[in-house]
Amino acid sequence: MYGNLYAREKKGQGVKPEYRFIKMFILCLITGLLFLTGYENDRIMQEISSELQNESFLGETAGEKKEGKIRIILDVGHGGRDVGSSYEGIYEKDINYEVAKDLQKYLESMGAEAILSGNGDTLTGEYERIKVANGKTADLFISIHCDCHREDAGMSGMEFYYDGSGYPGMEYADALAAALHQNGGIKCNGIRQGNFYVLKNTYMPAVLVKLGSLSDSEDRRKLTEADYRERLAEKLAESIMLLF
Ligand SMILES: [Zn+2]
Repeated sequence: MYGNLYAREKKGQGVKPEYRFIKMFILCLITGLLFLTGYENDRIMQEISSELQNESFLGETAGEKKEGKIRIILDVGHGGRDVGSSYEGIYEKDINYEVAKDLQKYLESMGAEAILSGNGDTLTGEYERIKVANGKTADLFISIHCDCHREDAGMSGMEFYYDGSGYPGMEYADALAAALHQNGGIKCNGIRQGNFYVLKNTYMPAVLVKLGSLSDSEDRRKLTEADYRERLAEKLAESIMLLF
């Protein structure tokens, strides 16, 4: 049956007018959809680039460094429509921000100046965050993230990353992991060299920390509990202060 229909179409004979109409309609539909998809993509890209040109949080909140104070930049991973990793409706950007806020509170209570790079709700590009961070003469830059290992849900625990060149990130990552384990009983899963934009482009010692994996049930339970986040932030703050 299909063979017959194909043969008739090929010869251009016997094709009913309604088939031609359907073919034309489908062609128009596909062309229209392609056009709209392109338009939508352009619109989103324009929105993102105009958001990125806005003054970042660092620029609004940080003034000149106070004399004698240790200044820490707490880089909140992701924000706005960039949710980072996600698992069953839990967004990495929210956990990063909650921990960063607690960490800021503890660091400031210990006498340091801690500046957040975002609030989880607003999209601030890595380039903007780095540009302003580099102008703020900070003593340490800590980028806060979570992981998600969908292909290996058993992977869990905290991880520290540093850049292999330039500023001494490795020593800071080592010392932080050791102090966290010694003082807080929080075990670190690994200290690794990482090829991250924020580590490669900061003009100060920089460490990227992954607080845990959202795909691991135990890590997920802990990171979504305010008590655990608070304890983690307190121990992390104590460990940071030991570096100076
Ligand atoms: Zn992340």
